[in-house]
Amino acid sequence: MTQKQNLDISALPVLLTQHQQTFDTLAHRLIEENKHTNLTRITDPEQIRSRHFLDSLAALPVLDQLAGNKSSLRIADVGSGAGFPVLPLAIVRPDWQFTSIEATGKKVNFQKKAIAELGLKNITVIHARAEELAHEKLYREQFDIAVARAVADLRILAELSLPFVKIGGLMLAFKSRDIEKELTGAVTIIKTLGGESDIIWSYSLPDTEGKFHLISIAKTAATPIDYPRSYSIISKKAAN
Ligand code: SAM
Repeated sequence: MTQKQNLDISALPVLLTQHQQTFDTLAHRLIEENKHTNLTRITDPEQIRSRHFLDSLAALPVLDQLAGNKSSLRIADVGSGAGFPVLPLAIVRPDWQFTSIEATGKKVNFQKKAIAELGLKNITVIHARAEELAHEKLYREQFDIAVARAVADLRILAELSLPFVKIGGLMLAFKSRDIEKELTGAVTIIKTLGGESDIIWSYSLPDTEGKFHLISIAKTAATPIDYPRSYSIISKKAAN
Protein backbone atom coordinates (compact mmCIF):
# COMPACT_ATOMS: atom_id res chain seq x y z
CA MET A 1 0.00 0.00 0.00
CA THR A 2 1.47 3.35 -1.05
CA GLN A 3 1.86 5.89 1.74
CA LYS A 4 1.49 9.65 1.22
CA GLN A 5 3.71 12.13 3.02
CA ASN A 6 4.45 15.83 2.88
CA LEU A 7 8.03 16.69 2.09
CA ASP A 8 9.59 19.57 3.98
CA ILE A 9 11.93 21.41 1.61
CA SER A 10 12.30 24.55 3.75
CA ALA A 11 16.01 23.82 4.42
CA LEU A 12 16.93 23.68 0.73
CA PRO A 13 17.22 27.41 -0.16
CA VAL A 14 20.12 27.63 2.33
CA LEU A 15 21.99 25.09 0.22
CA LEU A 16 21.56 27.30 -2.84
CA THR A 17 23.02 30.20 -0.85
CA GLN A 18 25.94 28.08 0.39
CA HIS A 19 26.81 27.17 -3.20
CA GLN A 20 25.63 30.44 -4.74
CA GLN A 21 28.59 31.04 -7.01
CA THR A 22 28.37 27.56 -8.53
CA PHE A 23 24.61 27.79 -9.07
CA ASP A 24 24.95 31.30 -10.58
CA THR A 25 27.58 29.98 -13.01
CA LEU A 26 25.33 27.07 -13.97
CA ALA A 27 22.32 29.37 -14.52
CA HIS A 28 24.44 31.70 -16.65
CA ARG A 29 25.82 28.83 -18.75
CA LEU A 30 22.29 27.40 -19.23
CA ILE A 31 20.87 30.77 -20.34
CA GLU A 32 23.77 31.45 -22.72
CA GLU A 33 23.78 27.98 -24.27
CA ASN A 34 19.99 28.00 -24.60
CA LYS A 35 20.26 31.00 -26.94
CA HIS A 36 21.53 28.68 -29.68
CA THR A 37 20.72 25.16 -28.44
CA ASN A 38 17.27 24.18 -27.27
CA LEU A 39 17.88 22.88 -23.74
CA THR A 40 15.06 24.26 -21.59
CA ARG A 41 11.83 26.26 -21.76
CA ILE A 42 12.73 27.92 -18.45
CA THR A 43 15.06 30.87 -19.04
CA ASP A 44 14.22 33.43 -16.32
CA PRO A 45 16.90 33.30 -13.56
CA GLU A 46 14.31 33.22 -10.73
CA GLN A 47 12.42 30.44 -12.47
CA ILE A 48 15.64 28.52 -13.06
CA ARG A 49 16.33 28.79 -9.32
CA SER A 50 12.90 27.46 -8.38
CA ARG A 51 11.91 25.08 -11.20
CA HIS A 52 15.32 23.60 -11.95
CA PHE A 53 17.55 24.05 -8.88
CA LEU A 54 15.14 23.80 -5.93
CA ASP A 55 12.98 21.19 -7.64
CA SER A 56 16.05 19.03 -8.30
CA LEU A 57 17.15 19.37 -4.67
CA ALA A 58 13.69 18.28 -3.46
CA ALA A 59 14.98 14.71 -3.74
CA LEU A 60 17.62 15.46 -1.12
CA PRO A 61 15.62 14.84 2.10
CA VAL A 62 14.64 11.40 0.76
CA LEU A 63 18.18 10.63 -0.43
CA ASP A 64 19.74 11.81 2.84
CA GLN A 65 17.38 9.54 4.75
CA LEU A 66 18.37 6.58 2.57
CA ALA A 67 22.07 7.45 2.88
CA GLY A 68 21.81 7.17 6.70
CA ASN A 69 25.33 6.59 7.95
CA LYS A 70 26.78 5.65 4.55
CA SER A 71 29.53 8.02 3.47
CA SER A 72 28.54 7.76 -0.18
CA LEU A 73 25.65 6.85 -2.45
CA ARG A 74 25.80 5.80 -6.09
CA ILE A 75 23.02 7.54 -8.02
CA ALA A 76 21.89 7.30 -11.66
CA ASP A 77 19.89 10.08 -13.31
CA VAL A 78 17.89 8.55 -16.18
CA GLY A 79 17.07 11.01 -19.00
CA SER A 80 18.93 13.88 -17.36
CA GLY A 81 18.43 16.36 -20.23
CA ALA A 82 20.40 19.53 -19.53
CA GLY A 83 21.44 18.02 -16.18
CA PHE A 84 18.41 17.97 -13.90
CA PRO A 85 18.22 16.81 -11.20
CA VAL A 86 21.81 15.47 -11.43
CA LEU A 87 23.81 18.71 -11.54
CA PRO A 88 22.24 20.44 -8.50
CA LEU A 89 22.46 17.19 -6.48
CA ALA A 90 26.12 16.67 -7.41
CA ILE A 91 26.95 20.27 -6.46
CA VAL A 92 25.58 19.92 -2.92
CA ARG A 93 26.68 16.31 -2.29
CA PRO A 94 30.32 16.14 -3.53
CA ASP A 95 30.92 12.82 -1.72
CA TRP A 96 28.21 10.95 -3.64
CA GLN A 97 28.89 9.47 -7.09
CA PHE A 98 26.53 10.35 -9.93
CA THR A 99 26.02 8.81 -13.37
CA SER A 100 24.03 10.94 -15.78
CA ILE A 101 22.36 8.99 -18.61
CA GLU A 102 21.04 10.97 -21.55
CA ALA A 103 20.12 9.96 -25.12
CA THR A 104 20.46 13.37 -26.84
CA GLY A 105 23.98 14.39 -27.86
CA LYS A 106 23.58 18.18 -27.58
CA LYS A 107 22.33 17.81 -23.98
CA VAL A 108 25.21 15.48 -23.13
CA ASN A 109 27.63 18.05 -24.58
CA PHE A 110 26.07 20.82 -22.50
CA GLN A 111 26.39 18.75 -19.32
CA LYS A 112 30.03 17.94 -20.03
CA LYS A 113 30.84 21.61 -20.62
CA ALA A 114 29.00 22.69 -17.47
CA ILE A 115 30.70 20.00 -15.35
CA ALA A 116 34.14 21.13 -16.56
CA GLU A 117 33.32 24.79 -15.90
CA LEU A 118 31.96 24.06 -12.42
CA GLY A 119 34.90 21.74 -11.59
CA LEU A 120 32.62 18.87 -10.50
CA LYS A 121 34.51 15.62 -9.95
CA ASN A 122 31.64 13.36 -8.94
CA ILE A 123 29.62 12.98 -12.18
CA THR A 124 30.09 10.75 -15.21
CA VAL A 125 27.91 11.62 -18.18
CA ILE A 126 26.96 8.79 -20.53
CA HIS A 127 25.49 9.33 -23.97
CA ALA A 128 23.21 6.31 -24.19
CA ARG A 129 19.69 5.02 -24.21
CA ALA A 130 18.77 3.78 -20.74
CA GLU A 131 17.09 0.61 -22.00
CA GLU A 132 20.35 -0.45 -23.69
CA LEU A 133 22.77 0.66 -20.97
CA ALA A 134 20.79 -1.20 -18.29
CA HIS A 135 21.81 -4.51 -19.89
CA GLU A 136 25.51 -3.76 -19.37
CA LYS A 137 27.07 -5.48 -16.35
CA LEU A 138 28.82 -2.30 -15.28
CA TYR A 139 25.49 -0.52 -14.79
CA ARG A 140 22.84 -3.19 -14.19
CA GLU A 141 21.67 -3.25 -10.55
CA GLN A 142 24.72 -1.20 -9.53
CA PHE A 143 23.05 1.94 -8.12
CA ASP A 144 21.59 2.73 -4.71
CA ILE A 145 19.09 5.04 -6.38
CA ALA A 146 17.84 5.92 -9.86
CA VAL A 147 16.23 9.34 -10.14
CA ALA A 148 14.30 10.61 -13.16
CA ARG A 149 12.46 13.85 -13.83
CA ALA A 150 10.02 14.59 -16.67
CA VAL A 151 11.10 11.65 -18.82
CA ALA A 152 8.06 9.46 -19.45
CA ASP A 153 4.89 7.93 -18.05
CA LEU A 154 5.64 5.84 -14.98
CA ARG A 155 4.95 2.55 -16.83
CA ILE A 156 7.81 3.42 -19.22
CA LEU A 157 9.97 5.16 -16.66
CA ALA A 158 9.92 2.21 -14.26
CA GLU A 159 11.28 -0.06 -16.98
CA LEU A 160 14.00 2.46 -17.91
CA SER A 161 15.06 3.05 -14.29
CA LEU A 162 14.47 0.05 -11.98
CA PRO A 163 16.96 -2.25 -13.80
CA PHE A 164 19.78 0.11 -12.69
CA VAL A 165 18.83 -0.17 -9.00
CA LYS A 166 20.36 -2.66 -6.54
CA ILE A 167 18.02 -4.77 -4.43
CA GLY A 168 17.45 -2.68 -1.31
CA GLY A 169 17.74 0.57 -3.25
CA LEU A 170 15.04 2.71 -4.79
CA MET A 171 13.79 4.58 -7.79
CA LEU A 172 12.60 8.16 -7.33
CA ALA A 173 10.37 9.68 -10.03
CA PHE A 174 9.60 13.41 -10.10
CA LYS A 175 5.98 13.95 -11.17
CA SER A 176 3.68 16.94 -11.18
CA ARG A 177 0.28 15.57 -12.16
CA ASP A 178 -1.98 12.53 -12.48
CA ILE A 179 0.21 10.57 -10.10
CA GLU A 180 -2.52 8.31 -8.73
CA LYS A 181 -3.57 7.32 -12.25
CA GLU A 182 0.03 6.74 -13.37
CA LEU A 183 0.81 4.70 -10.30
CA THR A 184 -2.28 2.53 -10.71
CA GLY A 185 -1.40 1.92 -14.37
CA ALA A 186 2.19 1.01 -13.49
CA VAL A 187 1.58 -1.39 -10.59
CA THR A 188 1.91 -4.57 -12.67
CA ILE A 189 5.10 -3.61 -14.52
CA ILE A 190 6.70 -2.29 -11.30
CA LYS A 191 6.09 -5.69 -9.66
CA THR A 192 7.47 -7.53 -12.73
CA LEU A 193 10.63 -5.38 -12.56
CA GLY A 194 11.22 -6.25 -8.89
CA GLY A 195 9.80 -3.06 -7.41
CA GLU A 196 7.14 -2.12 -4.89
CA SER A 197 5.47 1.27 -4.84
CA ASP A 198 6.38 2.80 -1.57
CA ILE A 199 5.75 6.46 -0.76
CA ILE A 200 4.40 9.52 -2.59
CA TRP A 201 6.14 12.62 -1.24
CA SER A 202 4.41 15.95 -2.01
CA TYR A 203 5.87 19.46 -1.86
CA SER A 204 5.36 23.01 -3.13
CA LEU A 205 7.89 25.24 -4.85
CA PRO A 206 8.17 28.98 -4.12
CA ASP A 207 6.24 31.23 -6.54
CA THR A 208 4.95 28.19 -8.41
CA GLU A 209 1.38 26.97 -8.47
CA GLY A 210 0.38 23.39 -7.81
CA LYS A 211 1.84 20.47 -5.97
CA PHE A 212 4.91 18.51 -6.98
CA HIS A 213 5.53 14.88 -6.12
CA LEU A 214 8.26 12.31 -5.79
CA ILE A 215 7.18 8.73 -6.20
CA SER A 216 9.54 6.37 -4.46
CA ILE A 217 9.59 2.74 -5.56
CA ALA A 218 11.59 0.26 -3.50
CA LYS A 219 13.57 -2.43 -5.31
CA THR A 220 12.83 -5.66 -3.50
CA ALA A 221 13.76 -8.35 -6.06
CA ALA A 222 16.05 -8.73 -9.08
CA THR A 223 14.80 -7.47 -12.46
CA PRO A 224 14.30 -10.40 -14.88
CA ILE A 225 17.03 -10.51 -17.53
CA ASP A 226 14.62 -9.79 -20.43
CA TYR A 227 13.98 -6.31 -19.00
CA PRO A 228 14.25 -3.54 -20.05
CA ARG A 229 12.80 -4.47 -23.43
CA SER A 230 13.40 -2.42 -26.58
CA TYR A 231 11.90 1.09 -26.48
CA SER A 232 9.35 0.25 -29.19
CA ILE A 233 8.04 -2.66 -27.14
CA ILE A 234 8.07 -0.69 -23.87
CA SER A 235 6.09 2.17 -25.36
CA LYS A 236 3.69 -0.10 -27.29
CA LYS A 237 2.88 -2.06 -24.11
CA ALA A 238 2.43 1.18 -22.15
CA ALA A 239 -0.05 2.45 -24.76
CA ASN A 240 -2.34 -0.58 -24.32
N1 SAM B 1 15.39 15.27 -16.57
C1 SAM B 1 15.55 16.50 -17.33
C2 SAM B 1 14.77 17.63 -16.70
O1 SAM B 1 13.95 17.35 -15.83
O2 SAM B 1 14.98 18.79 -17.06
C3 SAM B 1 15.18 16.32 -18.80
C4 SAM B 1 13.73 16.13 -19.08
S1 SAM B 1 13.42 15.95 -20.81
C5 SAM B 1 11.73 16.32 -20.91
C6 SAM B 1 13.51 14.18 -21.02
C7 SAM B 1 14.89 13.72 -21.40
O3 SAM B 1 14.94 12.31 -21.32
C8 SAM B 1 15.30 14.12 -22.81
O4 SAM B 1 16.49 14.85 -22.76
C9 SAM B 1 15.47 12.80 -23.54
O5 SAM B 1 16.52 12.82 -24.49
C10 SAM B 1 15.76 11.85 -22.38
N2 SAM B 1 15.36 10.46 -22.66
C11 SAM B 1 14.14 10.03 -23.05
N3 SAM B 1 14.14 8.70 -23.18
C12 SAM B 1 15.38 8.27 -22.88
C13 SAM B 1 16.02 6.99 -22.86
N4 SAM B 1 15.34 5.89 -23.18
N5 SAM B 1 17.31 6.92 -22.48
C14 SAM B 1 18.01 8.03 -22.16
N6 SAM B 1 17.47 9.27 -22.18
C15 SAM B 1 16.18 9.40 -22.54
